[in-house]
Amino acid sequence: MNKFFILPILLLLHFPVHAQPDTIQTGQGELIITPIQHGSLVLEYQGKTIYVDPYGGGKSYQEVKEPDLVLITDIHGDHLHEETLKALSLEKADFIVPAAVKEKLGEMELSIPEPEVLANGEQTSWEGIQIEAIPMYNLPETSDSRHPKGRGNGYVLSFDGTRVYISGDTEAIPEMRALKDIDVAFVPMNLPYTMDIQQAAEGVLAFAPEVIYPYHYKGSDVEAFKQKVESQNPNIEVRLREWY
Ligand code: ZN
Repeated sequence: MNKFFILPILLLLHFPVHAQPDTIQTGQGELIITPIQHGSLVLEYQGKTIYVDPYGGGKSYQEVKEPDLVLITDIHGDHLHEETLKALSLEKADFIVPAAVKEKLGEMELSIPEPEVLANGEQTSWEGIQIEAIPMYNLPETSDSRHPKGRGNGYVLSFDGTRVYISGDTEAIPEMRALKDIDVAFVPMNLPYTMDIQQAAEGVLAFAPEVIYPYHYKGSDVEAFKQKVESQNPNIEVRLREWY
């Protein structure tokens, strides 16, 4: 191997792919998406910064602005992470959360404003961004499942008509399959917490987003997921990013 090969490899090793932002064009400018870790991501739009399920400690957020809005999907520690929340600057952050998350936030002694509660099926508007809470749960539906229906929220955010679905920890439930006009989706795949890549592929093919990011996928073969989805619907782009 000569130096012309070695140099690019060294550069690749030196600059991790982690947290490289992607840009999506909306009707009103750019939406910037930064994968953070596992089930957490940052969205930036028109000068506002939105954190989803902040996780991974404060150092994971050094490259992004402080949050104006924090969305949390569920009560589990990989979504509602006290240590990360305590490490962040939340002075100007609004919170939109399910009721079960609000209750747990109240026990954490954070100096944050009263969180806004959104239940499954409810909508709100924040700084011109429409936000709808979508159910997220395990199948079969039982009250003792890891994610019983009604406790957590997935979210659909609409940025001037560009619709982004963040599913939270869920299987390919009917409410996911019935989604319409989704431009960008984030869907999990890891057993036993959510679903396998086959079920995830079936769910994604049912609502056919333009772009799908597998996230919350530790231990899953996301390359095989990409192959399953894109071979059956070439209009769906599966974007593999570094979440771990
Ligand atoms: Zn999770």
